[in-house]
Formats: sequence, structure tokens, C-alpha cells
Amino acid sequence: MATGSLPKPDVRRKPHPTGTRVPVLVPLPFPGPLDYLAPEPLEPGELVSIPLGKREVVGCVWDKTSTVPSDFAAPPGREIALERLRPVGAKLDVRPLPHSLRRFVDWVAAYTLTPPGLVLAMATRIHLKDAPKPTLGWVRTEAPEGDLRMTPPRRSVLNVASEIPMSTADLSSKSGASSAVIRGLAAAGLLREALIPLTTPFATPDPGYGAPVLSEEQAEAAAHLCRPVRESRFEVTLLEGVTGSGKTEVYLEAVAACLDEGRQVLVLLPEIALSAQWTDRFIRRFGAAPAVWHSDLGQKLRRETWAAISDGSARVVVGARSALFLPFNDLGLVVVDEEHESAFKQEEGVMYHGRDMAVVRARLADAPAILVSATPSLETLANVETGRYRHELLTSRHGGAAMPDVELVDMRHDPPERGLFLSPVLCEAIETTLRAQEQAMLFLNRRGYAPLTLCRACGHRMQCPNCSAWLVEHRARGILTCHHCGHTERLPNSCPECHAENSLVPIGPGIERITEEAKMRFPDAKILVMASDTLGSPAATAEAVRRISDGEVNLIIGTQIVAKGWHFPNLTLVGVVDADLGLGGGDLRAAERTVQLLHQVAGRAGRAERPGRVLLQSYVGEHPVMTALVSNDFQAFMDQEAAQRRPGFWPPYGRLAALIISAPDGAKADALAREIALAAPECEGVQVLGPAPAPLAVLRGRHRRRLLLRTVRGIAVQPLLRKWLSDIRPAGGARVDVDIDPISFL
Ligand code: ADP
Ligand code: ZN
Repeated sequence: MATGSLPKPDVRRKPHPTGTRVPVLVPLPFPGPLDYLAPEPLEPGELVSIPLGKREVVGCVWDKTSTVPSDFAAPPGREIALERLRPVGAKLDVRPLPHSLRRFVDWVAAYTLTPPGLVLAMATRIHLKDAPKPTLGWVRTEAPEGDLRMTPPRRSVLNVASEIPMSTADLSSKSGASSAVIRGLAAAGLLREALIPLTTPFATPDPGYGAPVLSEEQAEAAAHLCRPVRESRFEVTLLEGVTGSGKTEVYLEAVAACLDEGRQVLVLLPEIALSAQWTDRFIRRFGAAPAVWHSDLGQKLRRETWAAISDGSARVVVGARSALFLPFNDLGLVVVDEEHESAFKQEEGVMYHGRDMAVVRARLADAPAILVSATPSLETLANVETGRYRHELLTSRHGGAAMPDVELVDMRHDPPERGLFLSPVLCEAIETTLRAQEQAMLFLNRRGYAPLTLCRACGHRMQCPNCSAWLVEHRARGILTCHHCGHTERLPNSCPECHAENSLVPIGPGIERITEEAKMRFPDAKILVMASDTLGSPAATAEAVRRISDGEVNLIIGTQIVAKGWHFPNLTLVGVVDADLGLGGGDLRAAERTVQLLHQVAGRAGRAERPGRVLLQSYVGEHPVMTALVSNDFQAFMDQEAAQRRPGFWPPYGRLAALIISAPDGAKADALAREIALAAPECEGVQVLGPAPAPLAVLRGRHRRRLLLRTVRGIAVQPLLRKWLSDIRPAGGARVDVDIDPISFL
């Protein structure tokens, strides 16, 4: 202990602040946590209100030994003196963010080259807005009725009221009495105001509730999946199996094991629209609903769910990728269903891949991860090959249902009539199916009426004023719209270029146009259209699914939403209107993605007793994608894909990062792109491609250029990129976005 002469207190100085220095991460793009003064001790993870400039923000007390890479941290000796630190404000009334979530935030930030505060924002977003006003309700008091006249409405209210607070609306609807009656009883002291508690308890799923009898193959896979769950051990398993082989049933066994262990489960789905059917399935298996997490939840339910996940009372969470940032109290298993789906990649803000980050999340929680797919991504297959991931395979459909018979319709030899899009073969198959009282589905992954509108007189194409993209006609709404920026205009009567009247013609089909054709050809069919823009909410999707399941419709026409894991026993025919659609564009994964999507669509057919049939309309029948689909041989296809990517060290055999440079005008974008290209790293195993105009050269009015960094697997791209971009200072509204492991090359 220090003895001897202490410095005399300097009376002119402000009193020495009492408290300690705490790092606080705020939801803003600072390179790391900021220091604040904490008057009383604060634990890492606590959420606090923080003065920042003139604002108040919600920050999270961060760990002193954060895992943020050193070039993010404040340089030593440059710390702000304790007495100049601003004090933290009030502590929020929520549980601290758990350690594993804080490490995850650091990890995602470092991996995606995002300021950690912006990643934190995804975890604390619901606390950034003002908390909803606590709602007051009514409770029954002990007071005697006294001489208050007990009219029937008053009696009825007192019968309904209890010690659990009920809102005026609730109490009034349950008792049939008006709010005036309730107020009268309160004035008489028989009811008292009380806070309605925020958390509604989530029921605990029962692992033994609806356990299936598994086939031998299923049971074996389930046993392997359960083992690391029981041992609280990180391990990744690819659960692969043809559509309808019982993958869901099998991974629900691992969920059951995790519930048995008293820990929490996270299940990620690529699309929130799927959550309703998944929830029904879950209830049948476990007798209680899971907690659901996606952006469509109301604010109140979001807060309740967040709190229940944080205190551990919500045991199973099913959600979109954003659920990765929930404050699980004790995460024991992570499942990624349809792991190959590119929808797991977030393309805006923090650009991360939900599947890959799910694996990281599991590792940081010492929990196993299960990746589920009928057509696994090449990334995951490569990890299986190197032994990093385990592999479980289900080889046959449950209950002996056969795989559908996939046939090619060669559009060169069997073309549709002029101006139409359904070939005679396909039309005949639909008629046969409908006559047999079965259901048929037409798939075309394109919304709207026509993807292009042009002038017959001068050739002018209707283009978006903000993007290098054509406007898509949506005939029912009488508009042309841009699917990239949302720009919308009325469909004009004359060409805006040459002013010819009635000269604009639609080119190519979207599902609206296919629906028109189907109505004409099959006037008696009961048609249902399923597209992401016509089925906005999970509830609308659930209703559509119900109508199909109940046989209210027999011809379903849809975009990619119909391809998902739906189970429609009476659906026996699937027609793919344009199997070639995804192959253009020169995207690295175009073929892989087309196979995955079309195989998944095909998998909707013949899932029960009656066999399924799939017709693929294509102009390139000899393409390996078509061969793979027709022969149902994905192994050969993926081997071929691997062989193509391996030599050039394309992912997954090398690493890729995209730099997207954008600016208000083309010259600025070019200048910044050139500057960045000049500073490009030069070393063994590293290659920089570009700059080149992005395929979407203009997007929302911003001019875009792209560079691609490609390295061999042994080289991490993040340090390279940090060094490369450290001296780049975009100005004049220009910016550079980094996309690690890009999926989209637009
Ligand atoms: P996948 O996820 O591979 O597409 P599912 O798990 O959805 O397959 O199974 C397809 C259908 O077969 C579902 O209706 C499912 O309930 C049923 N099923 C699968 N395995 C079993 C089983 N062992 N016992 C009863 N039903 C099963
Ligand atoms: Zn646009």
C-alpha cells in the first residue's frame, strides 16, 4: 500500500470523480467500445443508457479483454483521463447480454469487417427505441362490497377480475360490462390499478409428447445427432436426405434431447413464411409452441420473446437469421434448416451469412450445430470432405413414397403456341392431373406479368430511372415497377420515346402472365397464386397452405415460395415453366443454385402414396443442371462443380471478398475504384479482379463498381482487407462496402 506524503488535494480542481472506467459498446460505427465512468460497479453485458454528444443511446458494458482485433482497439496511452469521462446513465431493466453473445458480436464484427457497435445493434435493436409504456390493468381488492348496489354488470366484473391484472378492454369483453362500470368499481375501491407484467410465459415443450417411431436409418441418424447434445460439445453435422425422408423428424429428436438437458434450441429457417407450418409441426411433436422470431413480430411480443429467451423460459426459438443475435441464456443446439439457401445471407447493413455464423454461434456456446438439406451447398460438402463436419444421410422417402419422376420438355422440339409459355406436353399433363382429382403446381421464379416491356415501333425498353434494370409490369395493378429500388410508374399508353400509341408490348412471362394463360387453358381449375409480394405475411402464407392442404384449390402457381419445404400429399405434378431462368448472369453459383431450387420444387410432387411427376421446360436440355435433375444424381453434379472450382481456387476452395464501390456519379465511382485498385495487395496466393462496372451498374441512383479479392484457403482475407483499405478515405458521397464470402455478384 502506498504510504508517505499523499499529494494535497487540489481545491481548485473539480472533485475527483468516484467510480471506475468501463468500456461501453454503443450501437454506432465506432471502431470499438468507448470509455465511460461507472459510479457503481457494472458487469460486462449490462445494458445502460449512455450520453453521447447531445443524445442518449443504449450501450452495452463490454469486456475489458475484448476479442476485437488489435487494430480496432484504442492505441495505448491515448486513453481519456478518468476525470474527463462522462458517467453512464441508468441501467436498463433487462438481464445482461450473456458472455457467448458478446463474443459472438465481436466475432461477427471482426469477420465481416463491420464496426462492432453495428453488430451489437442487431442484438439490442429492440431496446434502442423507447420502451412501450407499461400497461395498467385492474385487480380485485380485498375491500368489502359495503353498500354499493350490486347490479348484474358490477357482479359480472367482480366475478371475472382476480389478482392477475387485466386490461380494461379484456375485463370489459370478458364480463360484458362497460368501461364506465369498471371505473365505478375502482372508485368504490373494489378494483385497484396494477401493472400488467411484460413477460407472458412460454409453455415448455414436452420431449416425449408426440415422439414418432423412427425407421432404422432415421433412428441411427438421430442417435448420432443427440450424442453431442448430451455431451454439450461443439460439433457440426450435415443432415442430408432426399425431400420427404424425415430430416425434420430426425432433427426434432436432437431438439428433444436438448430439451431433456434443460437447454435452449435455436432453429433457423431461410424464410419467415415457413414458420407457420413449422410451428404446427413442432406443436404436434412437442405439445407446445416454440417462440418465433422475425421482423414481423409486434414490438410488445418482441420484447416479451427477447426477455423469455434471456431468462431461459423460452426453450425453443425458430426464426430468421436475425435470431442468431438473441440473448440465449443457455444455448444447447443450433439447427439450420435448408442450409443451402442463399436467403441466409444478409446483403445489406452487416453482410453476414446466417448459416456460417450459426456455426460460429454454436461453437462459442459449446453446442452442436446441425445443417439440414436435400441439396447441400458445396461449401458444406467441402467441410464434410475434409472431416470438419460429420455427415448423416437419409437415403429414402419415409413410408416408401417414391422420388418423383423428372422429365425434360425440350422447348426447341415441343414449343408452346406463339405468344404462350406452356408447352402442349405440360398442358396435357396438367389436364390429366386435374381430371384425376389431384393437384398440380406451376413454378416460375419471376413476379409480375412480364420482366420487360418494349416498344414495337422503336425498340425502346422501359427502364428504371434509378437502376440499370428493366421495369417489370404488374398488370393487375396497372403499373411498371423496379424490383431493385421500388420505383413505380403507371403503364403508359404510348411509348415515351417515339410516342407511338399502343405500341408497348410485354416480353417474356412472369407468374401473372402464366396465371392468365392457365385460366384460359384450364377454365375449370381452382387456381391459387403464391408469390412473395402477394403473400406478405406468415399468416397469409399459412392460409394459402391451408387451402392447398384442404383441397380448396387444385392448380397452384407460384414463385420460389412454393419451392420450400411444404408437404402437400395430393400434389402430384410440378411444372417448371422456365428451368433455364437461373442459369444466366455468369454467377459463380448459378448452376448449383438452379439445381438446388429446382430439386426442391420437384420435391413437392408425390410426397404421399401417389407418385409424382415433374416436367422441366428448357431450351438447354443437355445442360449438366438438367441432366442432374433428370437422373436425380446430385453427387455427380456436385463433383463436377467441385472440379470446376478447385483449380481456380474459387469458393469453397479459396476465399472471396467483394468490394462494392458506389458514388453519386460514375466519375467519382471510377476514381475511387482506381485508387483502391492501385493500393491492392500483391502477394503469393492473392489475386485482385477488377475494378469493373457492377452488373447493376446503377442502383438507387448510385453508380457502382466492383473489385473481387480472391485468395487461397490458407490466407485470411480480413487482415489483408483492413490493411488495404486503411488509407482509403472515400469522399464526396462515395463509399466502399466490403462483402466477405459474397453470394450475390450484382
Ligand atoms: P424432410 O424434412 O426430409 O422433407 P419430413 O421430416 O418433413 O422430411 O418428413 C416427410 C413426412 O413424413 C412428414 O409428414 C413426416 O411427418 C413424415 N415422417 C417422416 N418420418 C416419419 C416417421 N418415422 N414416422 C412418422 N412419420 C414420419
Ligand atoms: Zn430501380
